[in-house]
Amino acid sequence: MESSLDSAGNLPTLHKPPWIKAPLSTGTGYARVRSLVDRNRLHTVCQSAKCPNIASCWSNGTGTFLILGSVCTRSCRFCAVEKGHPNKPDPDESSRVAHAVNSLGLNYAVITSVTRDDLPDGGASVFAETIRAIRTVRPDCRIELLIPDLAGSMQALDIVLNAGPDVLNHNVETVPHLYPLIRPSADWNRSLAILRHAARKGFLTKSGFMMGLGESRRELTAALTQIAAAGVHILTIGQYLAPTREHHPVERYVPPEEFEDLRAEAQSLGFRFVIAGPLVRSSFKAEEAWRECLTESPA
Ligand code: SF4
Repeated sequence: MESSLDSAGNLPTLHKPPWIKAPLSTGTGYARVRSLVDRNRLHTVCQSAKCPNIASCWSNGTGTFLILGSVCTRSCRFCAVEKGHPNKPDPDESSRVAHAVNSLGLNYAVITSVTRDDLPDGGASVFAETIRAIRTVRPDCRIELLIPDLAGSMQALDIVLNAGPDVLNHNVETVPHLYPLIRPSADWNRSLAILRHAARKGFLTKSGFMMGLGESRRELTAALTQIAAAGVHILTIGQYLAPTREHHPVERYVPPEEFEDLRAEAQSLGFRFVIAGPLVRSSFKAEEAWRECLTESPA
């Protein structure tokens, strides 16, 4: 796809269109989550990734907890998470997350992490530990795990799956031809293999990607077809927003009607639940998607 570079060879900074409006972070619900996160020394991807939905989610008392620290071993060009050499996993982190989930009275908790290529199992055992810690204090809480690719280790993935997540989520983030530029340490087929393995083991699986990074419509159709063929049930499609000027620039702001068009195409490919829109993120309406899939799941 041709892009109109400026004289210095950079993409011009696009102005945000009217449909990219994130609500302000105020209200008692927001303040409650904020103080709980601070008091328990927790990380959330809501904050680390500068999610535009933080206000509405936290006001509703939900959030996505980031485990395994806040420093990632990879450097995806779209991501605001800090990059570098992470500290050793904190042994108390799982119980603090469980305490926060219980204090918030969550019925549906989303847990994600940075990528830890420095750990032999990529952090899989910490994901499993976190599920067990939450289930100990809140047995009926449903748990969605948004995992990194665990360097493609099916052994590590089985450690996670054996802990029994209700939804196994892994984002493909963008189309294959943009991987070298946008997420250089990742691999399209490796990500599909993670999703396929979980789906074949009977888990509700979920994935997602962003638009506005330079992908073509044809590439999106090919990506949807491959993700559906991997057995994925739930799909999220959102607009890429550059966290800073140092990150990959937004190539294009996709109008809402195009999201709707793509949502319809994805639905026709057999996904059980598709949520698409400019401000949609992986955990947006996560509980609703899970509930919807339950009512739809084959007998
Ligand atoms: S692997 Fe995940 S957390 Fe790390 S830089 Fe990439 S998107 Fe961000």
